[in-house]
Amino acid sequence: MSKIKFAVLPGDGIGPEVMEVALNVLEVAADKFGFVCDYERADVGGIAIDRHGKALPDSTLKLCQESDAILFGSIGGPKWESLPAREQPERASLLPLRKAFSLFANIRPGLLYPELQEASPLKPDRIPHGIDIVCIRELTGGLYFGQPKHTETLPDGDVQAIDTMIYRKSEIERITDVAIATAQSRRNSICSVDKANVLETSVLWRKTVTDYLARKAPSIDLSHMYADNAAMQLARDPNQFDVILTENMFGDILSDEMAVICGSLGMLASASLGAGKNSQGLPFGLYEPAGGSAPDIAGKKLANPCAQILSAALMLRFSFGQNEAASAMEEAVQTAVKSGNRTADIAFAGEPVSTRKMGEAVMANLRG
Ligand code: NAD
Repeated sequence: MSKIKFAVLPGDGIGPEVMEVALNVLEVAADKFGFVCDYERADVGGIAIDRHGKALPDSTLKLCQESDAILFGSIGGPKWESLPAREQPERASLLPLRKAFSLFANIRPGLLYPELQEASPLKPDRIPHGIDIVCIRELTGGLYFGQPKHTETLPDGDVQAIDTMIYRKSEIERITDVAIATAQSRRNSICSVDKANVLETSVLWRKTVTDYLARKAPSIDLSHMYADNAAMQLARDPNQFDVILTENMFGDILSDEMAVICGSLGMLASASLGAGKNSQGLPFGLYEPAGGSAPDIAGKKLANPCAQILSAALMLRFSFGQNEAASAMEEAVQTAVKSGNRTADIAFAGEPVSTRKMGEAVMANLRG
């Protein structure tokens, strides 16, 4: 029987609560589809600061290095907010993990089931069949990492800050590859988002994406859009998109807009794929819910575990090639929601269910 080996980093707040549910669902999928889950838990984020003195302990990093994927919960909370910026849970663990594994491709499905239309701030007539799009964001280049990056006092006493936006053709091509694979598994359409009217990096981005698709995947329907227009179009008619492909900062902003129009953060998963291959010959990846540690509801049995379950499904698909099991988990979540099992964040009229009950409904559907 094949084995899937992954590191489990539950983190803080609701992280451990939703992680336990996702692991139970994974075990049911493993039973049904004939594989074995081999995982170990390790501390990350605030809890790691408390127990080990740093947000990403060496033992946690070592476990990740010995695994084929990371299933990540969420980190942070009020207890650690007064720490210096560089010691904050997110900055001191997620960013080093991205760097250690060259996690260059962030895949964020923007999925709103028609049954949850009410959760979206968009008018129902804009999304009669819900929302089903994907944002592919370049995650290790651009303005967030380019050098020089500093603040300086000028000879005249004024103060100036500098960030640098840099992209190489090779970086653009490798993220375009991810968009191509994603589009080919969906509606075969990519909208590349840039600001080629004002940015040099965007001119290179647009030319590289155009040339690369012409060579590698000419049958994909490719369009280009300026980032400001894309922000408007997402709110006006999100389903005009299939796959949005964009650089780091535009992706940061657009994927958060996508999360808002899709209703609850409790339903949205994400995958960050690395440049390297794991022992299965597939991309190493970090899989996590789009939301944070939700300290306002932590410990109250209110957290929606679906984002964590759907993140685990993405892990099965991308890092372990278990496509059938991944799709079955996704369908089990949708069926649970359709049949009225809803945590408080998505229960509009009926009685909300607890985190555990939501998980049980998903597992019952998965068992069939
Ligand atoms: P948040 O995403 O934690 O919460 C925003 C809102 O969404 C809250 O009302 C919360 O209750 C709700 N929510 C989020 N996930 C939910 C779920 N699964 N079920 C039901 N409701 C859910 O954002 P925030 O409040 O701005 O941040 C809280 C902490 O999380 C901060 O310390 C922040 O730095 C951290 N954070 C971590 C990550 C991460 O781990 N990658 C991402 C974002 C924020």
